[in-house]
Amino acid sequence: MTKFLNNKLCRFLSFFLFLNPATLPVKSSSDLAAWALKTNGVLELRTKPNSTLKAYFQKANQIYGDRFWVDFPGELKNPRKIKGNGPIKEIRLGKPNKGKTRLVIEFKEETNLNPLTWRMIGLDQNTWRIKLFVPKYSFKRIAEGVVKKKIENIRVNQNSIITTKSSHDFLQLPNVKQNKFSVVIDPGHGGPDPGAIGIGGIRETDVVLEVSKIVKSLLSKKGVKVNLTRKNEVDLDLPLRVSFANKMNADIFVSIHANASRGKRRDINGLETFYYRGWRGRLLAKRIQNQILRVSPGSPDRGVKQGRFYVIKNTRMPAVLVEIGFLTGRIDARRLEKPSHRKRIAYSIAKGILEYLSKVG
Ligand SMILES: [Zn+2]
Repeated sequence: MTKFLNNKLCRFLSFFLFLNPATLPVKSSSDLAAWALKTNGVLELRTKPNSTLKAYFQKANQIYGDRFWVDFPGELKNPRKIKGNGPIKEIRLGKPNKGKTRLVIEFKEETNLNPLTWRMIGLDQNTWRIKLFVPKYSFKRIAEGVVKKKIENIRVNQNSIITTKSSHDFLQLPNVKQNKFSVVIDPGHGGPDPGAIGIGGIRETDVVLEVSKIVKSLLSKKGVKVNLTRKNEVDLDLPLRVSFANKMNADIFVSIHANASRGKRRDINGLETFYYRGWRGRLLAKRIQNQILRVSPGSPDRGVKQGRFYVIKNTRMPAVLVEIGFLTGRIDARRLEKPSHRKRIAYSIAKGILEYLSKVG
């Protein structure tokens, strides 16, 4: 583990692969119920519902080849090794320490891996998938137990970590003090001002309004008072948005926008979050930016920046303006047109806000 922590690449990966920091009751037996490494290079896992997984990758050293492993709560009864084939050298199930289960996949030396693109995706409350290698290798499936009981169920959730109510719960947004906080969410543009127009005519005003409404509902469930500056397609001047937030005496102000690049360049994609002043604004921007990046793999991180936008400059509370992607960009537009991704983005913005509120309060 020490070696792992010294390895920058691995630290980066553990950040991205880390999942669901939910608190859990003490479990006596392993949370890992079944797993399958399929011929297409996808590892599927079935766990107990609402389990917390942590996944890691370590580059080869003198002793081992490249290794990917997942830690599960609950202790494994019988540690075992399974001989690999194709790109896989060996699969091991063990207990790294008391009360834990570890599934290790060790790759053969010559295997070409691209762990920076790996993402563990929760398909529903108890199934997970991650693609580890491309199917150019001849590989015979290795599995223990049955991962998918009902295939139809998986299909419904395939596009999203959070398509159902119950799976919102399983991702666990942080808790904050009930009825303590007031937040103003500002969906950019509106009415005669559609904002950015992207690929296929996708309009900023529609995307950000939908996302804002979902953010509101997620935060409301956590006992946060939320007001939207606009609830429908109306044109609302910037000073009115600001005076609304100031009058509300909101704790924070979050303006949600989507970008367009000059000349509608499809190769320009990415996410960015602006604040105008203060460490609080900067912290809020950072929390939101971190979260939106996690649900937008492959889209560039354009960073947390200072910006002089009217609405964040003139509001009196910590205020940020988040750009959730380029409607003119190939990667971002394709995503933002999907309701499932809009939900994910809304979820990640809500998560960033709640993280901020629980820290700074
Ligand atoms: Zn905008």
